[in-house]
Amino acid sequence: MAIASINPVTGEVLKTFEPLTDQQLEHKLALADRTFATYKHTSFRDRAQWMHQAADILEAKKTELGIIMTLEMGKTLKSAITEIEKCANLCRFYAEHAPQFLADTPAQTDASRTIIRYQPLGIILAVMPWNFPFWQVFRFAVPALMAGNVGLLKHASNVPQCALAIAEVFHAAGIPEGAFQTLLVGADRVAGLVADARVKAATLTGSESAGQSLAAIAGHHLKKVVLELGGSDPFIVLKSADLELAVNTAVTARVMNNGQTCIAAKRFIVEEAIADQFIAQFVEKFKALKVGDPMQPETDVGPLATPQILNELDLQVKASVDLGAKVLVGGYRVKEKGNFYAPTILADIPLGAPPYQEEFFGPVASVFRVQNFTEAIALANSTNFGLGASFWSNDQQEIELAIEQIEAGAVFVNGMVKSDPRIPFGGIKRSGFGRELGVEGIREFVNIKTIWIK
Ligand code: NDP
Repeated sequence: MAIASINPVTGEVLKTFEPLTDQQLEHKLALADRTFATYKHTSFRDRAQWMHQAADILEAKKTELGIIMTLEMGKTLKSAITEIEKCANLCRFYAEHAPQFLADTPAQTDASRTIIRYQPLGIILAVMPWNFPFWQVFRFAVPALMAGNVGLLKHASNVPQCALAIAEVFHAAGIPEGAFQTLLVGADRVAGLVADARVKAATLTGSESAGQSLAAIAGHHLKKVVLELGGSDPFIVLKSADLELAVNTAVTARVMNNGQTCIAAKRFIVEEAIADQFIAQFVEKFKALKVGDPMQPETDVGPLATPQILNELDLQVKASVDLGAKVLVGGYRVKEKGNFYAPTILADIPLGAPPYQEEFFGPVASVFRVQNFTEAIALANSTNFGLGASFWSNDQQEIELAIEQIEAGAVFVNGMVKSDPRIPFGGIKRSGFGRELGVEGIREFVNIKTIWIK
């Protein structure tokens, strides 16, 4: 794929970029390597100051940075600005808590003194997606930099201006240039980077196939990886739930970010006793969603990021319908121009149709009726994914059982799944492995060194 900013509303090519030459790439790798030798000795206090500064810059420039995101990948400007604010909070969170998360931990053994120490590894490569072009990168970079690592960013090829803007934010904040660099390269250069002895570990957020490729190469070179891949998160609503709140949240959980979120609720599993009511309200609210220009404040759903994503979604809906699924609302491309897809609800989905196993990366909800709790959990667990799950009930026993039985990296009860700097984020099964955020996230890319003194 060419490295280019293409406005998903108009199809206009805004800017194209030449990928780095081998020589330029080598220069950046060498700079990262040299920088690590000194950066790892910087104090938490210095790193925290830089992160606070980065947070201030993000907040001061949130509209300008938000516009770059909206123009490159189509998320609504209001959500882009919220994303920048979230990144600023993340910077402040780790500035404050990293020293405690990475403080020496004493242990009791047969030695006179035993300590666990957390030391940086070196260059960490981040292969990142376009759907949250700032948040996904900050979620990797802030803990990595606070831990004393240096970062190389290979961002998705359709968000190069975001990638460059992020590097500028860190540099303007005072972080040494070689500690965080953007590499404008295509996916074909990732294997070589992972193989390079100076690169110590890698993290990827994106599709299963990209994750498989990276993990295979990293495995070959015995390097640590964290993978945050797709999801087909269940949103389970049982009869004792607060129905109005559940429906309102269901709409947001499905269409936020124009439906292109790994932790978006995608399969709505509803107990038969309330299914008619739930579906009627859900359809009504989907019909009321305003699809259009993501720059306009009244827009709820903007375009999909690329024509490929749009085509894939359209094919998934068509395949489902061909197999017998019913379209309750939407089910079509909205305009001739731009990557718009109508907010869509599928129901009566036959076993084996795409919603059972595939990730729908756009504003398409699939509704399933179940007779009871047991059926709901069985259906929720019946995919290969295991990222997040949202469970709605006011029955304490059901809640406890659901927490225990749902196969996912996170269970949110009576709320939608979301990421938060204070708690770990990641999946099981084919949704990936490893964790970002929280104390667990900052400890992914460190040498957990055991020190035993007789
Ligand atoms: P990709 O997984 O292809 O892209 C994500 C990142 O991985 C990009 O930086 C991409 O680079 C890179 N990449 C792609 N292939 C490889 C590879 N073989 N080795 C190393 N790096 C690679 O996602 P797409 O944009 O193509 O989206 C396809 C689908 O992936 C979506 O429909 C959705 O289902 C899923 N997805 C999930 C995301 C999530 O948050 N879980 C985020 C994005 C996508 P480049 O852009 O240069 O190709």
